[in-house]
Amino acid sequence: MSVCFLNGEFGPLADARISPLDRGFLFGDGAYEVIPVYSRRPFRLEQHLQRLANTLEAIRLPNPHAPSEWAAMVGEIVARNPWDDQSVYLQVSRGCGERRNHAFPMLTRATVFLMSDELVTVPAVQLENGVSAVSAADFRWLRCDLKSTALLANCLLRQLAVDHGCAETVLFRDGFLTEGSASNIVIVQDGVMIAPPKSHLMLPGVTYDVVLELAARHGLPHEVREILEDEVRAAEEIWMTSSTKEVLAITTLDDRAVGNGRPGPVSRQMYTWYQEFKTTVMRGG
Ligand code: PMP
Repeated sequence: MSVCFLNGEFGPLADARISPLDRGFLFGDGAYEVIPVYSRRPFRLEQHLQRLANTLEAIRLPNPHAPSEWAAMVGEIVARNPWDDQSVYLQVSRGCGERRNHAFPMLTRATVFLMSDELVTVPAVQLENGVSAVSAADFRWLRCDLKSTALLANCLLRQLAVDHGCAETVLFRDGFLTEGSASNIVIVQDGVMIAPPKSHLMLPGVTYDVVLELAARHGLPHEVREILEDEVRAAEEIWMTSSTKEVLAITTLDDRAVGNGRPGPVSRQMYTWYQEFKTTVMRGG
């Protein structure tokens, strides 16, 4: 039974209760983070907490905790759950009003919720063969940089992939790549790794940052610039990056092979660097 934290108390997840008036439930009025934990050490916790702070500020929800308090709560959740490798989910909603009303309540206490689960790693067969993706028009709002709990559009777009037996939906807006329904996307063209620039149209991924840092550290040619849909469709390699998928090659897009239909050499190299980085930085190996 996994242990969660809700409004000041730790307890079994199955026993946790919130009010139906909670604005997170009624409006998706909240912010969240998913933090991978390796060997009981949270990965890039500071960056996740900074992104949470950025989202909370943008949605005008006062951050209920200082970074040191958040770190203590995350540490406690990790300690109280049984797995060495976990994925910690953390959510803050704008709490409850007295009745349902779109405008913010005058006085409210944020609802703070943390839970954790065993970190599910990418199956070996997916690492070996890559995964398939479909594409779709990015019909989300214009603040995709915020990690808001209002994820209906992302859910619909992700389900589209599932409906097609695929792992991810690659999103295009006005002829340009934005990201995936639950990941960032980078491509390789002529051996150069190309990542779209951070903007309001994509989530600034923690893994995206790590991948760019690793490219710089190891001297992999790379660019950060807007990527045309046509460039994605003609790319040698396409990868998705996220905290839970890490670096995962997309080898089929809309039923057409990407490159030769196998994970390319650059994605394999980046995957290796990422694993090394985790081992040295995270596991203290
Ligand atoms: N974009 C979206 C829409 C996401 O939901 C996620 C996280 N699942 C990412 C990008 C990747 O972010 P991170 O590397 O911080 O997990």
